[in-house]
Amino acid sequence: MMAASESCEVCGFHWNSISSSEIPVRTTAATAQFVDVVRTSTVPVGTRPSPDRWSILEYGAHMRDVFISIRERIIRASIEDEHVGGQLYRNERVNLGLYALDQPDDVATELHAMSRLFIRTFEALPPGYEKRTFTYSTITNQQVTILWAGAQALHECEHHLGDVRENERLLSV
Ligand SMILES: [Zn+2]
Repeated sequence: MMAASESCEVCGFHWNSISSSEIPVRTTAATAQFVDVVRTSTVPVGTRPSPDRWSILEYGAHMRDVFISIRERIIRASIEDEHVGGQLYRNERVNLGLYALDQPDDVATELHAMSRLFIRTFEALPPGYEKRTFTYSTITNQQVTILWAGAQALHECEHHLGDVRENERLLSV
């Protein structure tokens, strides 16, 4: 299990201080702001500010896939007793060009839809299921609860919202 003090070094998110009722509200808010950046940013959303940063569009496509991936883990962990989550292969998806045809309208619409789908599934879990445990990924072999995975979806969304805002700053100077 994660240590109680575990927090993100970049954005300060504390996984273990998140309650299940907070996840839908905060994820909805962060997604709305993220979608707004993808749709209405005045900087070019397909441009990488530097080679080591994704574009706003790539961060959006990544976040869309994170919602899909975490929702699948939560469903499988609700059914299987010792579920082991698959890898996302986040860099490989980009490097293979799998996001190359994603247009801003597609990404904005899909990000909104996948966020809603993730939230609806999370809210529909039977009572007590948020305490079920599974192995989050074969990379870390970290044992987590379904609640932790829900918090991780929220974390990814808030964290990458910070990334796309940083891209806006970097591209507008
Ligand atoms: Zn973070």
